[in-house]
Amino acid sequence: MRFDVISIFPEYLAPLELSLIGKARRDGLLDLRLHDLRTFTTDRHRTVDDTPYGGGAGMVMKPEPWAAALEAVLAGDSKATDARRPVLIVPSPAGEVFTQAVAHELAEEDHLVFACGRYEGIDERVLDWARDSYIVRPMSLGDYVLNGGEVAVLAMVEAIGRLLPGVVGNPESLVEESHADGLLEYPVYTKPSSWRGRNVPDVLLSGNHGKIARFRRDEQLRRTASRRPDLLDVLDTTGLTKAERATLGELGFDVVDGRLVRRDPDPQP
Ligand code: SAM
Repeated sequence: MRFDVISIFPEYLAPLELSLIGKARRDGLLDLRLHDLRTFTTDRHRTVDDTPYGGGAGMVMKPEPWAAALEAVLAGDSKATDARRPVLIVPSPAGEVFTQAVAHELAEEDHLVFACGRYEGIDERVLDWARDSYIVRPMSLGDYVLNGGEVAVLAMVEAIGRLLPGVVGNPESLVEESHADGLLEYPVYTKPSSWRGRNVPDVLLSGNHGKIARFRRDEQLRRTASRRPDLLDVLDTTGLTKAERATLGELGFDVVDGRLVRRDPDPQP
């Protein structure tokens, strides 16, 4: 799979040479290319920003260098056609929220291009223009504002890259983890079994795989109910076992018309 990242700080992406993503690149599983936006400027000062029309604080990224960079990346993609357009991800706090489901969706693509904004962002016309050759997806890491798109790209490339076949050594780790099935992961423990007066739950030492699976599932439900009840609001209830429904009942959630509904903790008489 190919990734192109365009930024005025390509060196910000250096951590993508490390760990599993770095290894995947060296193994040829992931072809990641960095581009310095300033190399696509034409003036002596290599200007990438200008004042905003309409006034206001900050600067806006100029359209010309972005168009030149995006055209160069497209020209380097021999497989790109109208029917098979690369996906242009534009990090933005005003974008669609990047989730594990989106990571899975994007991991199926052949070519992802990331356009890292800085200042007040990129001139909006670039996104409109790019739709002729790219599938354009403004994408937010979450409801907060960063200084630039690079941190968001580090997170997205890692989340997408680790889903590619062969990147994570044991593919089973991708099945049993937070957000894989709409729930958070259960708590995990390692040796020693007793540490500073705190013991690993007995069931994990029992060797009884059925009981361990049940314990972990209950812990997933408990943790999700306490930390992220919003995930339970949208959980697909069709596969829930009787035991899981019972645990959810203890946690204050009932299945009503196929959806989990929080029981009113303090019903009015
Ligand atoms: N003026 C913009 C707004 O209010 O929507 C914020 C611009 S921000 C200071 C500069 C750049 O950081 C953005 O163009 C984007 O690339 C990146 N950025 C900031 N917050 C982000 C977030 N939550 N997710 C993804 N990218 C973000």
